[in-house]
Amino acid sequence: MAIWNEAKECMSRDELENLQGKRLVKQVNYVYHNVEYYRKKMQAVGLEPGDIRGLEDLNKLPYTTKDDLRETYPFGLFAAPQSEIVRIHASSGTTGKATVVGYTRHDIDVWSECVTRALVQCGVSKNDIIQVAYGYGLFTGGLGAHYGVENTGATVVPMSTGNTKKLITMMKDFGATGIMCTPSYLLHIAENIIEGGDLDKIKLRVAVCGAEPWTEKMRQQIEETLHINCFDIYGLSEIMGPGVACDCIYHKGLHVQEDHFLPEIISRDTLTPIADGEVGELVFTTLTKEGIPLIRYRTKDLTSIDRTKCECGRTTARIARFKGRSDDMLILRGVNVFPSQIEAALLEMSETLPHYMIIVDRVNNLDTVEVQVEVEERFFSDEIRELENLTRRIENVIKTAIGIAVKVKLVEPKTLKREEGKSVHVIDKRVFD
Ligand SMILES: [Zn+2]
Repeated sequence: MAIWNEAKECMSRDELENLQGKRLVKQVNYVYHNVEYYRKKMQAVGLEPGDIRGLEDLNKLPYTTKDDLRETYPFGLFAAPQSEIVRIHASSGTTGKATVVGYTRHDIDVWSECVTRALVQCGVSKNDIIQVAYGYGLFTGGLGAHYGVENTGATVVPMSTGNTKKLITMMKDFGATGIMCTPSYLLHIAENIIEGGDLDKIKLRVAVCGAEPWTEKMRQQIEETLHINCFDIYGLSEIMGPGVACDCIYHKGLHVQEDHFLPEIISRDTLTPIADGEVGELVFTTLTKEGIPLIRYRTKDLTSIDRTKCECGRTTARIARFKGRSDDMLILRGVNVFPSQIEAALLEMSETLPHYMIIVDRVNNLDTVEVQVEVEERFFSDEIRELENLTRRIENVIKTAIGIAVKVKLVEPKTLKREEGKSVHVIDKRVFD
């Protein structure tokens, strides 16, 4: 299979680390001089840009977390002036306050380059017609994939999400050969293709999926069901969006675009770097970003790293399929959801008691969410209609808060199990390995 940028994707480890070191020094200087928040953070631990002379000094730098982004909402971590920012994206945060990121034209170019490398790694070329079925909008999925496909030279069909029937019709009529979407959505599409008897009418041969945790088994299931090659692409809006890392045909980990993003794996207990192969939290330092560069950003994603050369010829480090997250964030249908968002929404309603349970499952390959809520005794003596009205109202309040529809089930007081110590509010029945 072709390699889009052999000079960058196959350089020797020495060469690559030399480049990373130089870019790190430059990025730290840039951040220090352009972001007051970072300057103060570095000064607080007695650091000056001159103290960072290469990769060996990386661990002197303080970590960045989602809290830093929240505290500086909306633009406090931007290093470039508004006149240089050409695009904004945002994702949800715990308090309902969004995490906002900005891109300069150069950042968008780098992003497109990274998605292109990933796509070529998955066997995509300018001869392909690719349907992008991630959501378009503030979420990085749609537009991130879109520009990458265009840059590859392939034909992009900006489907977005929500109309599976139309997507399948166009897949047949246009002879689409590729698709980019969440894996659970692709399984849903696959079921519809099979049910409609359309499998022999489509030309699909490759799928590049991401934005939610999934399993190797699920990937293989998609390949077998649709007779295609299916790949895993990873990204997060704080660092860039989709394309930070991607699977190759050997499926032995996701190649990180290491000349732009410096990965580290740290221990969850000591927060210090651990050996290759051991599972810990993934941390990224951006190396070339202008809009919102981040230093040692803790992704909360748990994985391990392999820096040996891959059979595909690339020398870039590979991160293993994710083992989970080190916080309570749920990824539901590709959307980041914190239980505290649902809690805050329930607290706004006077009829509900502060006891609830979120039950997440995957039915027919789509995430389902049921929220069981305790309500005062008196509601159960009311007419059924009243109870139904209240249920709908709670469903609406939660949907407004988290952006996805949930099913609410009202239960009588003291029905839900009480935990001693840290309360458990989520039962996630989905299986990811
Ligand atoms: Zn490879």
